[in-house]
Amino acid sequence: MLETILEARHINKEFHDPVTVQVLTDITFSISKGEFVSVIGKSGSGKSTLLYILSTMDTDYEGELLIDQEPMGGRTDAELARIRNEKIGFVFQFHYLLNEFSVLRNVMLPGLKLGRYSEKEVEHRAMERLKMLGIGHLANKMAYRISGGEKQRVAIARALINDPHIVMGDEPTGNLDTKNSDMVFDIFKELAQVHNQTLLIVTHDEGFAQSSGRIIEMEDGRIIRH
Ligand code: ADP
Ligand code: MG
Repeated sequence: MLETILEARHINKEFHDPVTVQVLTDITFSISKGEFVSVIGKSGSGKSTLLYILSTMDTDYEGELLIDQEPMGGRTDAELARIRNEKIGFVFQFHYLLNEFSVLRNVMLPGLKLGRYSEKEVEHRAMERLKMLGIGHLANKMAYRISGGEKQRVAIARALINDPHIVMGDEPTGNLDTKNSDMVFDIFKELAQVHNQTLLIVTHDEGFAQSSGRIIEMEDGRIIRH
């Protein structure tokens, strides 16, 4: 049987601003180890809101979320922060690298925070990931001195530093030109196919979605295909 990495059970989400609007309705699905899943749907259909909940950053919802078969409900912020850092890697549209640090240091930071390995080991692991993504030569550059496409690859290396159970991305290529988008897509595909990495990626790119293993489609806060 396939190991379940993430499971959403009947998740509902409302915003109150000032009128109440239901943004997610009865979201139920699960993701198995090694699956490469893309999430598509029109702007405003609730993709980012859902990813925020699935990544444990938003805890204000109804229903249940399980990561690595453990329920996320009723946990402190500190516990959730620890689970996030250990089990989830993030790649956002805007990379959020720290400009005042080197590329290598940026990749190392979540590893140092986790504290599972010594600093030397974290450095070695960070270097391995940069090399795997073809950007080992950038390790000692300051983060602000590299291009947008390079920054996004650094962000992927950083997302992988703690061997996460799942990598999540919210439009990770939304800010890139076609050539760099294709490169990032190819990296995700390789992570899935060669490294059995579980991926959940929100995208508006139909071609990317088609080439992933599975598509979850949202409309008006509901899943209409999965
Ligand atoms: P998507 O990522 O698919 O474009 P979002 O999850 O960002 O969609 O938004 C879904 C719906 O929730 C939209 O109608 C949006 O206006 C609304 N929404 C998102 N964030 C908030 C918020 N903080 N307060 C109120 N409404 C919000
Ligand atoms: Mg969005």
